[in-house]
Amino acid sequence: MQSGALLANDSQLGRSTTEMAISRLSLMEEMTARGIRITKQRRLLVGIIQDSPRHLDAFSLLKVAKLSDSNINLATVYRTLALLKGRGLIDELDLLHLEGEKHYYEAKTSSDHCHIACFNCGAILEYSNPLFERLKKKIASDSGFLIRVARLELGGVCSRCASAR
Ligand SMILES: [Zn+2]
Ligand SMILES: [Zn+2]
Repeated sequence: MQSGALLANDSQLGRSTTEMAISRLSLMEEMTARGIRITKQRRLLVGIIQDSPRHLDAFSLLKVAKLSDSNINLATVYRTLALLKGRGLIDELDLLHLEGEKHYYEAKTSSDHCHIACFNCGAILEYSNPLFERLKKKIASDSGFLIRVARLELGGVCSRCASAR
C-alpha cells in the first residue's frame, strides 16, 4: 500500500514529483511503433517532454528546445504537441489555471494520476492511488460510459507552505 506515497515537493513553480510509482510511456518507442515520422526537431521536443521533471507549457518547451536548436519555432512546437495529443501519447492539463490559461503537457502514464496544486507556491504534486482506478470503474459501470479520459485536480496548500505559516 505504498502507491500513494507523497514526496516532499520542490518549491519551484510547477515542479512535480515524478519519482513515485508512476510510469510513463516511452514516446519515442510509441512513435516508432506507430510509424510516426521522427524528424530531428520532433525527436528533440519529445525528449524534452519525456525527461522533464515539470509539466511544461508550449512556451517553456520552446525555450528549452531553443537551447539545443535555435531554429525551432513555436509553430513546430504546437504542431508536434497536436500530433502527440491526437495520437493519445501525451496528456494536456490546465492544472487549475494557476498560471492563467496555459496548458501543460506530459507523457501519458500507465495508470491515471491526480494532480495536487499548491495555491501558495505553485508546486504540483502527482499522486496515484488504486482507489482512483476503482472509482473510474465504478463511474463507468454506473454510467454505462466507456471512460477514455479521467482528470482529477485538487488545489490547496502544500505541506511545506502549511508548516511555514
Ligand atoms: Zn506550497
Ligand atoms: Zn502529471
